[in-house]
Amino acid sequence: MNKTYCPSLTEYTRRLSREVRIGDVPLGGLNPIRVQSMTTVDTMDTLGSVEQTLRMVEAGCEYVRITAPSVKEAQNLLEIKKELRKRGCTVPLIADIHFTPNAAELAARIVEKVRVNPGNYADKKKFEVIEYTDASYQAEVERIRERFRPLVQICKQYGTAMRIGTNHGSLSDRILSRYGDTPLGMVESALEFLRLCEEENYYDVVLSMKASNTQVMVQAYRLLVQKLDEEGLQPYPLHLGVTEAGEAEDGRIKSAVGIGTLLEDGLGDTVRVSLTEAPEAEAPVARMLIDRYTHRAAQAKPIRPLGRNLVVGAQLSVVSSSATPDNRQPSTDNQQPTTNNSLIPVNPFQYQRRHTHEVLNFGGANVPRVIADLSRLPRLEYADLRAAGHLYTPFLDKFQMSDLGADYIYSGPRPVPFMLPNGLKEIVTYTAWQAAGRRPDHFPLLTPDRYLGDLVELHPQLNFLLLDLATLTPRLLTHLRQDRTVVAVLDTTNAHAMPELRRAFFELINAEVTCPVVIHRAYPLANPAQTQLDAATDIGGLLIDGLGDGVVLCADLLPAAASQDEWLHSLDQLNQLAFGILQAARTRMSKTEYISCPSCGRTLFDLQETTAMIRKRTDHLKGVKIGIMGCIVNGPGEMADADYGYVGVGKGKIALYRGQTVIKKAVPEEAAVDELIELMREDGRWIEKEVVGESVGV
Ligand code: SF4
Repeated sequence: MNKTYCPSLTEYTRRLSREVRIGDVPLGGLNPIRVQSMTTVDTMDTLGSVEQTLRMVEAGCEYVRITAPSVKEAQNLLEIKKELRKRGCTVPLIADIHFTPNAAELAARIVEKVRVNPGNYADKKKFEVIEYTDASYQAEVERIRERFRPLVQICKQYGTAMRIGTNHGSLSDRILSRYGDTPLGMVESALEFLRLCEEENYYDVVLSMKASNTQVMVQAYRLLVQKLDEEGLQPYPLHLGVTEAGEAEDGRIKSAVGIGTLLEDGLGDTVRVSLTEAPEAEAPVARMLIDRYTHRAAQAKPIRPLGRNLVVGAQLSVVSSSATPDNRQPSTDNQQPTTNNSLIPVNPFQYQRRHTHEVLNFGGANVPRVIADLSRLPRLEYADLRAAGHLYTPFLDKFQMSDLGADYIYSGPRPVPFMLPNGLKEIVTYTAWQAAGRRPDHFPLLTPDRYLGDLVELHPQLNFLLLDLATLTPRLLTHLRQDRTVVAVLDTTNAHAMPELRRAFFELINAEVTCPVVIHRAYPLANPAQTQLDAATDIGGLLIDGLGDGVVLCADLLPAAASQDEWLHSLDQLNQLAFGILQAARTRMSKTEYISCPSCGRTLFDLQETTAMIRKRTDHLKGVKIGIMGCIVNGPGEMADADYGYVGVGKGKIALYRGQTVIKKAVPEEAAVDELIELMREDGRWIEKEVVGESVGV
């Protein structure tokens, strides 16, 4: 199987894409990775749209997308554009089209770019499984091509760019019937439209493969690049985004896991972060994700040459490309060599967890574990375990474990002087472990030198071994192959953290070492917002590839004089972040998941307010996924993964879904949240919220 989809899996190199002209702001090629977002006001509100666009540009948007549900909104884009230009704003505008070719054909004459969704552009989506013969399938493709061709010709004539933007949730019945709800179906959905563009010698195309499920999203983009190359299509630029990422921390973590993983692969030419917040809040998050790569090569220390056991990069190939259709695309000379990843030991297009043997409750079929590093707390008392998600209630003199309770704490050289609650276990330094005697639920952390020493005494069940890429010597790998008590704690200080850690995992796999591995990273807490995105990228990217059996996040660079409370606050944030990353990468579900759309000019209710209200009532339902969609355009397909759906179907009217089946068609908005809860109650999935008073840290 050809697994080639990016220049390198083990060091950062950006994929060289074809440059596409979008107004005065070109995309792809050697241009910087661009930031964009979408307005949320009604497109018929000209001044509202203009003012929001200006705020978005001020916040850092380099392109602004505006929905055009019908011809009248498409026509009003002209008024919006005129007013913006009158005010000196030249930002390129993008019309967002679903279902309506005539709106697209009009908008393409007005704005700099149109976005079409191949799942619903002259195609249908009724959740019908229809058996297509080859002939009837082909006839349907021909019908769509005839409907799409005029738009391509208009775009070509007016110099308008186009995004073919596939959404996981809105694949057509035809694609679903042949490919299923899969990354391959998403890719084929776009390629059908793309082939027609190339037949018409139209190349100003950008591609996207969005999904709310980060694993599906990452796999689809990777597969798309591989298919473009395999078919000899142009290396079109990629627009990256996670749909319905949600709001606040969860939305940012989920976006970073999906988008950051692809940026680490060197993929992506423009980023849209979709948050259920004001669109001005999205651009700074996208900018923070992108900026990490802007000067990266200069900052990073080099990764050492390829390891002894690693075969990646043994052969090189060149990105193939069809004939150069005009002088705006990269010539063969500046296409970069692409690593042949066909021998890599993971499948980048399909999730498969690395095979590990079980060590106590690590690895095997266990969920990834969370370790809270409390070793740098100035002091550690009973109630301070709240920083690890274990809440002490003085009134009851009892511990209460939240859904975000760490599985282990690391206390370094100072073992805790009290019994640990809730099955919590402790890791200490080797010396402290020896000095403390053989306490139950107490395990040592060793360095490789200590582990390989002659007189080492090991715990019979579980020993933690601190490793990095440089310490994976043949002797150590031989020991690890045989030892059934070791859990590796894998670390790096390389600015190219994710590729170096990925390379270390490849070394372990190729050496047939099956011990569980906990990923360890330290981040400066001076900038928690950046730490949130960086950690989600570094660790989420590995989890998406099935690598990692646990996470330990460490606070770094807090001022030496930081108080106990500052430490506790920071450690609590890191503990929540670790669980958030595992959830966003879909490897351990510990809280309710909200798949909420970012809202746009089609939205039929106040998305932010409603999401906050639903969250308030349901955030104690561990593992339940709730989709909240402003309109029916993409839902319920957009929330393909959700257990329940809350979808706007008219002014003040909500449809409620169980999975993808509509259960109540037009519930008045005031009663809709209660009805949603009633639906969960009927399914036996509702539990009353426990009211906990007086808990420390609640
Ligand atoms: S689902 Fe939300 S973002 Fe998507 S079109 Fe509808 S209202 Fe707009």
